[in-house]
Amino acid sequence: MTAPAMANVPPAPTLPGVTAVYSGKVRDLYEYPDGRMLFVASDRMSAYDWVLPTTIPDKGRILTAMTLWWFDQLADLVPHHALSVEVPDAVAGRAMVAQRLEMFPVECVARGYLAGSGLSDYQATGAVCGNSLPAGLVDGSRLPEAIFTPATKADLGEHDENVDFEAVVKTVGEADAEALRALTLQVYARAEEIARGRGIIVADTKFEFGRHPKTSEIVLADEVLTPDSSRFWPADLWEPGHAQPSFDKQYVRDWLTSPASGWDRHSGEAPPPLPNDVVERTRDKYVEAYERLTGQQFE
Ligand code: ATP
Ligand code: MG
Repeated sequence: MTAPAMANVPPAPTLPGVTAVYSGKVRDLYEYPDGRMLFVASDRMSAYDWVLPTTIPDKGRILTAMTLWWFDQLADLVPHHALSVEVPDAVAGRAMVAQRLEMFPVECVARGYLAGSGLSDYQATGAVCGNSLPAGLVDGSRLPEAIFTPATKADLGEHDENVDFEAVVKTVGEADAEALRALTLQVYARAEEIARGRGIIVADTKFEFGRHPKTSEIVLADEVLTPDSSRFWPADLWEPGHAQPSFDKQYVRDWLTSPASGWDRHSGEAPPPLPNDVVERTRDKYVEAYERLTGQQFE
């Protein structure tokens, strides 16, 4: 197993009318007195399992707008948890009010291309999460068809672990496991097609679903189809056989691992602040992803 991540997450700011309940590396979650959730996307950026000491301006607004856009694109396939964007002023534009769901403790990952832990598993076993794949695939290969590669949800600071479909059946039961797999693949297929038409390859992506406490419906939750929850690759640069340029984290990773940063990612020490040009170029990539996908200008 990999070493636990450094969970250096700052405390959530206080907001009027809501109670802070949880902070992840990027998101802060709050609760309204009536039980609804307030989902706030911060401008924090994570890399190599650290929350970086430098924020990326507008990242929270971009991720929130992108998620809401995707919820609309997918609405005929699956209901989503967003209720409204009437949120406290301090987080306007980067937060949504959401229906609280009974979350399935499964990271529902779809992969259409081979990379990351999927590539490692394939190289070791010829399969990913129990999905056998043909021989000869390389880093970045497009898969013959998209596969469901679930992972267990790890606690903050731990890495998720890839599991096979049977493990999901054991966790949530056969019927829900089947439903989660089908929804994951349907939603991914739709999203991959839309994004590809706009010059972005969604190589893989992670969804989280929950059950509506009243209607019992399965609802799409969390943040969806952003560069933080997915691998976005610029389609024009796609070339299997090596690591693909990452849409969002490339400049950050390149700089952090360059001598200029003076940082050793295996040292166990927190990464240094990012230089302005790395921040600017990273922000530009998030904006570009948003604008390419939605066809709308980010103001
Ligand atoms: P990481 O920083 O690695 O992403 P994380 O996934 O624990 O850690 P967040 O993604 O910031 O942190 O937290 C979002 C949390 O909210 C997740 O635990 C997710 O399962 C949960 N969640 C998402 N949507 C809902 C919802 N509608 N109702 C209840 N919980 C939800
Ligand atoms: Mg998360």
